[in-house]
Amino acid sequence: MDDDTKQSGGLSRRGIFGAAGATALALAAAGPASAIPHKGAKHDPLQAFKFDIESTEGWVGAGGSAKEATVEEFPVSKSIAGVSMRLKPGGLRELHWHAIAAEWAFVLDGRVRATVISPNGQAESSDFGPGDVWYFPKGHGHALQGLGPGDAHFLLAFDDGHFSEFGTFSITDWLAHTPPAIAARNLGLPASLLAGLPKSEVYISAGKVPPAAPEAFRNGDPSTNQFPHKFRLAEAPAREFAGGSIRLVSSREFPIQTTMTAALEEIKPGAVREMHWHPNADEWQYYISGRARMTIFGAHGRAATEELGPGNVGFVQQGFGHYVEQIGPEPVRFLAIFNNPLYEEISLSAWLGANPAGMIADNFGLSGAQVEAMRRAPLVIME
Ligand code: MN
Ligand code: MN
Repeated sequence: MDDDTKQSGGLSRRGIFGAAGATALALAAAGPASAIPHKGAKHDPLQAFKFDIESTEGWVGAGGSAKEATVEEFPVSKSIAGVSMRLKPGGLRELHWHAIAAEWAFVLDGRVRATVISPNGQAESSDFGPGDVWYFPKGHGHALQGLGPGDAHFLLAFDDGHFSEFGTFSITDWLAHTPPAIAARNLGLPASLLAGLPKSEVYISAGKVPPAAPEAFRNGDPSTNQFPHKFRLAEAPAREFAGGSIRLVSSREFPIQTTMTAALEEIKPGAVREMHWHPNADEWQYYISGRARMTIFGAHGRAATEELGPGNVGFVQQGFGHYVEQIGPEPVRFLAIFNNPLYEEISLSAWLGANPAGMIADNFGLSGAQVEAMRRAPLVIME
């Protein structure tokens, strides 16, 4: 039965999410291996690929707090930076934009309202709860408000490892560095009033909890954005496998999310996210609950293992082999964020199933009968 609709654990044989098969074919057609150069050359050891973002102090103010991981704190992650942010009820992350990076977010706890303007002039104000995602393309102006009750806690990921949350384009910083005559003309306020505005960046302030129903915009336009910035990842259909599940949001499911993909993964006790790699992207992980052990393979005989738990960040460079073992009594839940709008993976089981038995026998020095016993259907998350 060769057609690619044959299901195995709810999965097409052609690849986990439809994209991997074509890449595997391209890889198989890449021609004979050339002699290995520099066989004896020295290679740098693998860079640290674990960072405990929640144990850092970060920025703390009356309205909330922020902890970050940029290349300064976590040098291996040149492509993605992360921030763990908390807003108290009424806490206001002031009006700002990001010049060099798009902002992707996942709400871990509590409720937050985001108001954002697109370059076409359409604006949108939406409320977000646990499991919801937002994506603000580079430069889209936005602000956040904690809705209470309790703190809102959300993870932000930016598609440039050099991005620092503490270097954003904030409205108070700009106005404080503009001559009052110009600022007064632009705002339509008397210059005398401007003297009372904040003298430097506010960043996060303690505001009031906004009304339950979003207020009308000052220009009278209803909130009618036709290209939504919101996606309910925790409500998205899960791909179920023997050892767990994956919910995926790429630009296919969420068209505005043009530079990133994310996966919410859950691995059951004792299960393993199988050996695989991502041809088109780095993988930046945030562990939400439970514990795991991840091992990465970086060629030249290099492999390394780290244990990861709640509040830890993990990172896998593009093309590096890796697998994740659940450990401890409870399932492990983590977010995997990729710096590409389309999801690609090649798993070991899918790859070995997509090769002739005779060649696999030669490669490993096994008999035909032994290769016959080898798995041939993709596993993705194995029991
Ligand atoms: Mn922002
Ligand atoms: Mn992966």
